[in-house]
Amino acid sequence: MSQKFAGVKGMNDLLPPHIETWQFVEAQARQAFAAYGYSEIRTPIVEDTALFVRSVGEVTDIVTKEMYTFEDKGGRSITMRPENTAPAVRAYIEHGFAQVEPLTRWFYLGPMFRYERMKTGRYRQFYQIGCEAFGAADPAQDVEVISVGQQFLKRLGVTDVVLHLNSLGDHTTRPAYTAALTRYFEPFAAVMSEDAKITLAKNPMRLLDSKEEALQEPISRAPAILDFIDDASKAHFDEVRRLLDGLGLAHAIDRRLVRGLDYYTRTTFEFIYQPQGENALGTAGTVCGGGRYDRLVKELGGPDKPAVGFAMGLDRLVLLLEALGKREASRPMLFVVTMDGPVRDHAIKLVMALRNQGLAVDFDPRGGKVKRQVERASHVRARYLFVYGDAEHQGGQVRLKDMDLPEDHPKKEQQVALAELARWLTTPGTHP
Ligand code: AMP
Repeated sequence: MSQKFAGVKGMNDLLPPHIETWQFVEAQARQAFAAYGYSEIRTPIVEDTALFVRSVGEVTDIVTKEMYTFEDKGGRSITMRPENTAPAVRAYIEHGFAQVEPLTRWFYLGPMFRYERMKTGRYRQFYQIGCEAFGAADPAQDVEVISVGQQFLKRLGVTDVVLHLNSLGDHTTRPAYTAALTRYFEPFAAVMSEDAKITLAKNPMRLLDSKEEALQEPISRAPAILDFIDDASKAHFDEVRRLLDGLGLAHAIDRRLVRGLDYYTRTTFEFIYQPQGENALGTAGTVCGGGRYDRLVKELGGPDKPAVGFAMGLDRLVLLLEALGKREASRPMLFVVTMDGPVRDHAIKLVMALRNQGLAVDFDPRGGKVKRQVERASHVRARYLFVYGDAEHQGGQVRLKDMDLPEDHPKKEQQVALAELARWLTTPGTHP
């Protein structure tokens, strides 16, 4: 009895041709981070559950509703990482980087897991590229992090993004602001769901992210944290803005930007996709979110080290690039049509030799009718094609056909010596 399976809901297979867009985005990220002196880290997919409860925050959506948590065979509570900042901090502390590397700058790239309600661009296994810079409290570090994000998006050709910026102040700001929010939201308790009432009691800041219909109007008029921040945080924020201006990095102050994770202090920011004309994607929205988290390293048992970072959603970036038509799938440079019989061995040998020189060359291992092989060549969108038969083998010449040119073009077919083929295909200018 055979059984047919489907992938787990919310978890996607990344397949050709889309995988090429993924690879392009990843390659650009590696280059952008290398230019800024960030090294890659890879942490395990699973961590101790308590790590996320402690860092992301007990009353956040991620921790209360979205984590893939299970008990392993040793009875430990394990969670599939919903984000990579807490694991990075854990690794930073565990391996004593604060002692050996006063400025530690890392980036990561990989799958994250959140049991979320799905829609376009929101999945249960999704991918993030992110970075974390430990050890510098200076506004210049915030700006460096923001700037690497912006540079990376620019490399991808995504320029219709707006940088939103806010400050959450220091550890004294949150209690004062929380008290003000509690006073503000209490009169609305009557229209709140039970869930929202719990949030109001435990962490009223999270109410600002609430999607509840009845709360939208009160949320829009709620006090803003920026009016509660301490003087030092205010000066930090002003300096970040001044440095951004100096680099020509336009930004908008977003007083509602408090972010869905509890560990942020001072600067928070998002890059939001806002195309000039029609929105090609509809819901891409936030492509990057980050901020400063100066207290997290200490809270997780490490030394008192400031840090700032961001995470970008790769799934959304890939959707965006594909919607914008920014990427063209790669294609073979050449397709060799083989003839059945002894000459076929020579054709296959040539294909392999050209491939070993790094050229993308294809053929049909099934052999058979020329017509079907030519169809195969157009299907894989090969640029050039020729038939390798006895005449070609003996004469040492092939008739190379440019599949991109119209039939009546004078350069549609060109005579090239077999011995010259590799050089002809790789020398710029020999072919259009
Ligand atoms: P966060 O870690 O929630 O700050 O999210 C950072 C970025 O990751 C977001 O701006 C999104 O681009 C992306 N992201 C978060 N959750 C998902 C998800 N469930 N599916 C796809 N992308 C996501």
